[in-house]
Amino acid sequence: MSQERDDPSKIRAEFRKRYDARNRKNDFTREFRDQRENLDELAQGERSGKGRWTRKRTVSGQRDNQESSGFQIELSVDAQSGLRGRVLKVHGLNSFVRTEQGDYQCSIRGLLKSLATDLQNVVVAGDWVVIEPQANQQAVIMRVEPRRNFLDRTSRGRQQILASNIDQALIVTSFVEPEIKPNLIDRFLVVLEKANIQPVILFNKVDLVSLADYQSLVGVWGQLGYPELFVSAVTGQGIPALQQITANRVSVVVGQSGVGKSSLLNAIEPGLNRRVATVSEENNKGRHTTTNAEFIVLANGGHIVDTPGIRQFQLWDVIPEEVEGYFRDLRCYTHLCRFPNCTHTHESDCAVKNGVAEGQLDLRRYESYCQIRAGE
Ligand code: GDP
Ligand code: ZN
Repeated sequence: MSQERDDPSKIRAEFRKRYDARNRKNDFTREFRDQRENLDELAQGERSGKGRWTRKRTVSGQRDNQESSGFQIELSVDAQSGLRGRVLKVHGLNSFVRTEQGDYQCSIRGLLKSLATDLQNVVVAGDWVVIEPQANQQAVIMRVEPRRNFLDRTSRGRQQILASNIDQALIVTSFVEPEIKPNLIDRFLVVLEKANIQPVILFNKVDLVSLADYQSLVGVWGQLGYPELFVSAVTGQGIPALQQITANRVSVVVGQSGVGKSSLLNAIEPGLNRRVATVSEENNKGRHTTTNAEFIVLANGGHIVDTPGIRQFQLWDVIPEEVEGYFRDLRCYTHLCRFPNCTHTHESDCAVKNGVAEGQLDLRRYESYCQIRAGE
C-alpha cells in the first residue's frame, strides 16, 4: 500500500499527466495559429489604396516564450519614411511618442486598431514603434517592435500588458513607518523574476533607524545577488547612487503606500513634483484606479514608470507550482528532493526542508515561500 503510494515512477507519471494537462491548457501554438489566421484575414480585408504603407505588406506574429510572453505583433511594412520612437504614454487609442525629431501624438494604423479589440494593448508605454508623421506633430503608428519584456496582469480573463521594455524595478521599502514587510519584498521578487526584470531593493528612511539592527535581514537578499541601496529622501543619503542607477535605463517603481516612492523620485530629480501623500490620503484606499503606465523622462537620460496600478502589484498570475522556480535560493535544492512533485511543505526527504534544518537556507525566506505558495 505504502509502496504503491511512494512509487516514484507512479508519482512521476502522475506529475507528467498533470504537467501535460497544464501545458495543453496554455497551448499558445494553436491560439497563435488562430490569431494568425485572423491577422491574415485582416490584412487581406484592409482596404488598399492607402499609399506606400499598404503596397508592400507582410503580417507576422510571434510569441517569444511560453511562460511569460504576451502576444507579440510585428507588422512589417515598407517603412522607408518611418520614424522610430518610443511610446511614453497611451490614452485609449492615442499614444504619445518621443522620437529624435520631436514628440508626436499618434493614432494607431487601421490594421493595428482592429487587432486592439481582440488582443488588448496593441501599443503600451515602453514600446518601440515606427510612425508615419503627418501635419501638426500628429502621426500614425505603423509598426510595433517585439517587446524585450513586459509587466502584465490578467484582467477579466484577458492578458493586459501594462508597460514594456523595462530594464529594472526599484522595490521601495522602509524599515519603519511603515514597518518593513520582508514577505512583500519576496513577493515582488517572485513577480519580477517571472517577468525577467532585474530587481533593485531600495531601503528608504534610513534616517529613522540604526542599520546595524537590520544587517542580518538585508544580508540574505544581498547574498542572493539582488542589488540593495540604503537611502533617505529626507537626508539625501544614497540619492547620488540612485541617480546613477536610474541613468539611461527604464526603471519601474513598486512598493507599498507610504514608503516614500514619490519623495525619492522628487529627490533624484527636483522639479519632478511627484505628489507626496499626506497621512489622511494614505488611509484613503482606492483613490487610484488607473493602471495605464506612463514613462517619466529624467534629466539623467533615464525613464521612470510610476503608475498607481503597477506600484502595488503583488502576485499577478503566479501559480503555486511556479513559485519555487522564482526563489533563487530554493531552486538549487529542489531537484534533490525525493519526490519530483515535492511542494517542500509536508513531504519527507525534502532537500529544501533539510537545507533549512541544516542552516544552509534562510528560515525566513523559506516561510515566505510557504506563504506565497499557499496563496496567503
Ligand atoms: P509613497 O506613498 O511611497 O509615494 O510615499 P511618499 O513619498 O508619499 O511618502 C510618505 C511619507 O513618508 C511622507 O510623509 C514623507 O514625507 C515621508 N518620507 C519619505 N521619505 C522619507 C525618508 O527618507 N525619511 C523620513 N523620515 N520620511 C520620509
Ligand atoms: Zn522538497
